[in-house]
Amino acid sequence: YNMEPVELNRLIMEVVQLFKQHTHHTIHIEDTALSTTVWGDHDRLIQLLTNLINNAIKFSPDGGIVTIQIQNKANKVHIHIKDEGIGIPKSELNSMFTKFKRVDNSASKKIGGTGLGLAISKGIVQAHQGDIWIDSIENEGTTVSISLPSHDQQMLLHSSLQEDNDRSHDTKGTIL
Ligand code: ATP
Ligand code: MG
Repeated sequence: YNMEPVELNRLIMEVVQLFKQHTHHTIHIEDTALSTTVWGDHDRLIQLLTNLINNAIKFSPDGGIVTIQIQNKANKVHIHIKDEGIGIPKSELNSMFTKFKRVDNSASKKIGGTGLGLAISKGIVQAHQGDIWIDSIENEGTTVSISLPSHDQQMLLHSSLQEDNDRSHDTKGTIL
């Protein structure tokens, strides 16, 4: 992983621009975040968003709107990718991040795939100390959400780790 500050607003626009050239689905970016810089690997984050937007499009066979929302939370940036597609049965939601796992019903089988996208996505998110989760209602749609530590938060974590390190060599040090 090649970590650097990555501006998510811009990265999402780039990825969506590429998709718009290849799909008739409407992709709508709802950007409510002021600061969306995270500490991440640019290419892996592109791969992550490509996987999730690709799923949102391909599991919405009748079209429908794909909405991408970006939000600032405490020390985190959340991205929600919402579709109006076939959905995922509740009983299968938690197992979807397992390699090669696919929903076993006719609607999903008709669409196809290898079942690797979400497993890879989870790996990428975890390498960024982030989180990924799915909310879905069958036949209504799915929202896949990810949270990534904001750049500022990562800087704080790194500097406080460094301070802990310094303090362990100085028993008289005062903890502020
Ligand atoms: P691959 O991504 O490797 O081409 P895939 O899309 O089938 O194949 P994943 O991206 O890992 O695999 O997704 C796993 C399964 O989760 C899918 O096969 C599908 O059943 C379900 N799924 C994922 N995203 C959605 C979505 N947005 N709407 C409905 N079902 C989904
Ligand atoms: Mg996929």
